[in-house]
Amino acid sequence: MRLNTANFDQELKEFVLSIGAGKVGFADLRPYFGEIRKAYGNTWDNYPVAISVALNMPSAVIREISAKGPTDSYARFYDVANIALDTMTMRITDWLEERGFSAFPITASKVSKEGLHGIFSHRAAAHLAGLGWIGKSCCLITPDRGPMQRLATVLCDAPLKCGMPMESKCGDCTCCQNACPADAIKGRNWQMGQDVSERVDRDACKAFLKKNYETYGSSVCGICLSACPWGKC
Ligand code: SF4
Ligand code: SF4
Repeated sequence: MRLNTANFDQELKEFVLSIGAGKVGFADLRPYFGEIRKAYGNTWDNYPVAISVALNMPSAVIREISAKGPTDSYARFYDVANIALDTMTMRITDWLEERGFSAFPITASKVSKEGLHGIFSHRAAAHLAGLGWIGKSCCLITPDRGPMQRLATVLCDAPLKCGMPMESKCGDCTCCQNACPADAIKGRNWQMGQDVSERVDRDACKAFLKKNYETYGSSVCGICLSACPWGKC
């Protein structure tokens, strides 16, 4: 049975924040179905709404990352954050199913040795939900925390009141591009439907992450996060 009370959106937001999220937003995917089908086929046709969940990463750990590369702390908290996000999206899915809606939790992207692909773009969902903008580094940048969060998504068919995408505030900044040791960031602003390769040389980034796997047991980097001026004030 579908239950949808007047303050359903607020109840859901309060629930998501109560289980540890730093931010939550809702995105209407219907205007973007054409782009979504190009990327993922018709897999997500039955899910018109994305719930974007952001988990704050410890800012001191991000700031500690230097031009030399990531730290053991970052590698550890990266894994912890992914597990925490997956636990949250599982609980959100259960919350929605108990109220009669269909939902599909997209796991927090764990970069593997083999590739950078996820089954749905968390960054696009967060951007369309109005949580922030996709920076030249391809990270989601929020006004208060910059790139210092990790993301997960629940796709669903609940009729939620959705946010509006946020304009990019990267401007003329090239800090991430200058800091990238793999010379992978091309310095272009994000556009809907644009292939990632237009903005980032994925092979160059992947090669650097792969090298870090041997040291940290995780394909992490974080240099472009640490270089971003947003969230540091
Ligand atoms: S993760 Fe590292 S290698 Fe990849 S784009 Fe960012 S700074 Fe460059
Ligand atoms: S470092 Fe500058 S260009 Fe890169 S994402 Fe942050 S604000 Fe945008």
